Amino acid sequence: MRKPIIAGNWKMFKTRDEALQFVYSVNMKVPPKEYVDSVVCAQAPILRDIVKRQGDNLRVGAQNMHYLDTGAYTGEVSAALLENIGVAYVIIGHSERRAYYNETDEAVNKKIHQAFRYGITPILCVGESLDTREAGETDAFVKAQVVADLKGLGSEQVKELVIAYEPIWAIGTGKTATPELANDAIKGIRSVVRELFDDETADTIRIQYGGSVKPANVDELLAQSDIDGALVGGASLDAESFLYLVNAAVKK
Ligand code: PGA
Repeated sequence: MRKPIIAGNWKMFKTRDEALQFVYSVNMKVPPKEYVDSVVCAQAPILRDIVKRQGDNLRVGAQNMHYLDTGAYTGEVSAALLENIGVAYVIIGHSERRAYYNETDEAVNKKIHQAFRYGITPILCVGESLDTREAGETDAFVKAQVVADLKGLGSEQVKELVIAYEPIWAIGTGKTATPELANDAIKGIRSVVRELFDDETADTIRIQYGGSVKPANVDELLAQSDIDGALVGGASLDAESFLYLVNAAVKK
């Protein structure tokens, strides 16, 4: 049995005051961490403030980090700092980072290795564009991402890792993949993990769906066999909506 994981990706939203208000209002209502991992991924400057106020059942994630320990990389954030301030998760290779900041699979792979070096759980994002889907190349494209992004990892690490399958055409567009389509793509990712590693790793790794997940569609998505949770942008910004999503995961 895989424990579901719901991660809110706040992107470049929420001031410190807004973030703390959110945390205060959800802390006591987030379901026990034995049943679901509930995570919010915030902008870097407020991560420490949220970590300090996270309740027992809420964990905090960053949205990106560099793959090197230290150095002259203006504007970047290190894994050492994230670890030092108590951040538990980091989103790696989100499609927005790949598209706007030219993040390559090679960089994504280095970042995943670096996160593990510091005991931070990576949430690796993969997923195809609309052009790729319409060309019938989704499976090959996503497989190539998974192979490149997981290069050199051990099966114990891959069991800890979380993958988020996020078709780019479904992010922030209101277009959700149908539950069946999402489940098929996620099954495909699981079989790539099976080929690269082994049955136990493939059956253990948690694979989320992401792309316009909201209270109105989360139940049918989570009802699918292989969808182990969700990476949620827009619908994670509102406390009531976030609570609906994490509670939906408990029923899985
Ligand atoms: P969305 O974003 O839920 O707003 O579509 C998902 C994501 O980018 O992780």
